[in-house]
Amino acid sequence: APVLDVARIREDFPLLQQAKVFGQPVVYFDNGATTQKPQIVLDTLEQYYKNYNSNVHRGVHQLSQQATEAYEQSRRTVAAYLNARHSHEIIFTKGTTDGINLVASSFGRKFLQAGDVVIISAMEHHSNIVPWQMICEEKGAELKVVPINERGELLMDEYRRMLDERVKIVSVTYVSNTLGSINPVKEIIELAHARNIPVLLDAAQAVQHISIDVQALDPDFLAFSGHKIYGPTGIGVLYGKEEWLNKMPPYQGGGDMIKTVTFAKTIYNELPYKFEAGTPHMAGAIGLEAAIKYLQQVGLDNIRHYEEQLQAYALQSLEQVEGLRFIGQAAHRAGAISFLVDEIHPYDLGELLDKQGIAVRTGHHCTEPLMDLFKIPGTVRASLSFYNTFEEVDKLVAGVKRAAAMLR
Ligand code: PMP
Repeated sequence: APVLDVARIREDFPLLQQAKVFGQPVVYFDNGATTQKPQIVLDTLEQYYKNYNSNVHRGVHQLSQQATEAYEQSRRTVAAYLNARHSHEIIFTKGTTDGINLVASSFGRKFLQAGDVVIISAMEHHSNIVPWQMICEEKGAELKVVPINERGELLMDEYRRMLDERVKIVSVTYVSNTLGSINPVKEIIELAHARNIPVLLDAAQAVQHISIDVQALDPDFLAFSGHKIYGPTGIGVLYGKEEWLNKMPPYQGGGDMIKTVTFAKTIYNELPYKFEAGTPHMAGAIGLEAAIKYLQQVGLDNIRHYEEQLQAYALQSLEQVEGLRFIGQAAHRAGAISFLVDEIHPYDLGELLDKQGIAVRTGHHCTEPLMDLFKIPGTVRASLSFYNTFEEVDKLVAGVKRAAAMLR
């Protein structure tokens, strides 16, 4: 029996009920790019703007206190969701990109020197490549890349060999947005910690699929985006261990991140405010809390269980399509399923799927170096959510067959 009542769950998502593509109800398989929002998130945003919109941490007045309380309550909910030791280890950001840039820039400025090494992996999103390239270039440090096998799994022996005294930080993705690979992050972290090297996890494609306990897993930093976890756009989270965040300089200067300012010298605020310069995305943070509470209500273990069943069914059904090959066949996977059919360009396939009301993503998925490794221009990517159904998978498979027949 299915672990989730998906028909019931779909009623919580207005877009899934309302959106039509070429006259048909949308079959939304682009959840890796962004997820749809449940009604409770939309209501929470509306209530905030209608009832207590006000700037946080500033006013003595009632509304400002109410907004501040809600904003800080969201921080506590996020901390509990990740099982962080302290809520001041939760920094609100614009998203994963912003969180990684914060660490690359601030940690890099303080701890990177010429000759040091930063380790990433071959399957990183551009947002976990470029910020490190920028700081490495500035500091004369070197960026090293953990290679992968043809199934899209990290070569852990290579990683082990790369860890030496020159390595100052490891930054890898938990789940690949293109291949769907779930990386052995526990082992990655343990190996790095054995040499006192901190680890950042890009959890953009993990937090919505797998429950994460930062104390058990023990990353030093972890970044994710609200919009990929059923929350609003423009809000994200950086978790960082207190010990590291306290040692790191502010990322940006401005209001809220200060204790006192004179023209001669500024005393920085304490955590988490030191890293939250300017008016934050209050509505976003409050909406993110609503999304997290919604997920907790559905149950992350139920979500994982259902998505595993759906994923197995999708893999097994797509495999039947003549000429289809998967890009990425890791033993452990979540979310994204990338594939190509014969020599058909992914863009052409994606366009014909769109005409049938099926939303997938095509292209390099912001992982150009990975596409170069596989020597392909891109993939068709179907990325699953717990609100997707087995019938939708059937539609996808039928759609791919129809499109491929037209393009051959
Ligand atoms: N990392 C991964 C693995 C991602 O999938 C994404 C989004 N596609 C990002 C980082 C960047 O997230 P955002 O654009 O929300 O900052």
